[in-house]
Amino acid sequence: MKPLSQRIQEANALLIPSATPHEGRRGRTYEEPADETRFPFQRDRDRIIHSYSFLRLQGKTQVFAAGEGDHLRTRLTHTMEVAQISRDLARTLGLNEDLSECIALAHDLGHPPFGHAGEEALNAWMHGHGGHFEHNEQSHRIVTVLEKHSSKYPGLNLNLEIVEGLLKHSPLHHTLEARLVNIADSIAYNSHDCDDGLTADLFSREDLLTVPLARQAYEHTRERGTYIRGALQHMLVEDLLKHSSLDSKDNEPISFSPAMAASLKELRNFLWDHMYMHPTVREQAMKGHRIVASLCDLLLKHPNEKIAHLQARTGGTVIEAIKDYVAGMTDAFAAESLSVLS
Ligand code: MG
Repeated sequence: MKPLSQRIQEANALLIPSATPHEGRRGRTYEEPADETRFPFQRDRDRIIHSYSFLRLQGKTQVFAAGEGDHLRTRLTHTMEVAQISRDLARTLGLNEDLSECIALAHDLGHPPFGHAGEEALNAWMHGHGGHFEHNEQSHRIVTVLEKHSSKYPGLNLNLEIVEGLLKHSPLHHTLEARLVNIADSIAYNSHDCDDGLTADLFSREDLLTVPLARQAYEHTRERGTYIRGALQHMLVEDLLKHSSLDSKDNEPISFSPAMAASLKELRNFLWDHMYMHPTVREQAMKGHRIVASLCDLLLKHPNEKIAHLQARTGGTVIEAIKDYVAGMTDAFAAESLSVLS
């Protein structure tokens, strides 16, 4: 077996100069002895996958309530698709595949139950108590405070490139790998939401084909006998790879062509009208919103052991502990907790 340092050096030779090197640049908050076989970001990937927050992604809504249909995405399968696209893009562009994978795997850890409806409910509840809720910030809080990897420090003690890569809207300088994951996220959900919408009969193929980009993807599928999700994803990835210029000093070195960005916007508008605003989806969303809001109110009236434990561990307010507790729940556990408490 070659020594780790030599393997890292050899792997770095495959990266472009603006990529994050495999040993990382920023290090961890708490120093740790080096691993014998895994690169630093590979260790981080394993920590993320083995965390409870990651396991719970399987029980969380993407667009549909988790468990609603065997062939619809959950937050976990969405996350896996983002990781897959991120890895492919990173490898092709000469960026750090392991770092991209880590950011992708952790990017939605902070999503509360019931998707955006749950997020809105938590944010509204927090506003009523002088705070706010935003899922990217919660992902950051999970890996730095709430998860446990060692009794010697809080959080997962991940390399800082990952931790900061989770704060999408922060002014911090982002690595190219973090920017790439942000776009891979949109490639994943725009493609798979078309698939889920069709599977759930929210709209017909004819409806979808009124969108020029979907029509174009459909022509591709006819040539090759494949399916529209893959064709869409392929077109988006190809455009991104062709249009990105990593050596330039552009503000957005990784981006779609202006034409593709416009086409994608049309597809977004279609999905907004026909999927996210569909009565069936809205009804589920409102139900999720009610569950999260009622649960927070009840827990404030009757804080349980979990809240006390969380508060003691994080040193925060009872409000913050309720937010952390509820945000971490799966859809089913939130619904069950509400029926137990009320
Ligand atoms: Mg996502």
